[in-house]
Amino acid sequence: MMVKIVINAERCKGCGLCLEVCPNKVLRMSSAFNSLGSHFVEVEREEACTGCCRCAIICPDVVFELYRTEEAGSASQTGGSDEDRRNP
Ligand code: SF4
Ligand code: SF4
Repeated sequence: MMVKIVINAERCKGCGLCLEVCPNKVLRMSSAFNSLGSHFVEVEREEACTGCCRCAIICPDVVFELYRTEEAGSASQTGGSDEDRRNP
């Protein structure tokens, strides 16, 4: 199983909570700034992501969308949508 991580960098305020909870050090903070004037999270090691959703659950600003890919061409969302946040 592969996990595709989609990050909406413009929503990130650089609080670092997701970096703290990721057990596999998948994420890193960019040295660049977004339009909010914040550093933002980016993916460093997507291959190490297990799709545990801890980053998406803890992020206060709904920056993450995570997709599990079972095989080429098929993907299902596993966390991070507004719907998931209403019904965790
Ligand atoms: S889903 Fe889990 S392993 Fe993947 S980036 Fe988020 S916290 Fe890390
Ligand atoms: S928890 Fe969300 S807002 Fe905070 S650094 Fe991570 S992606 Fe950005």
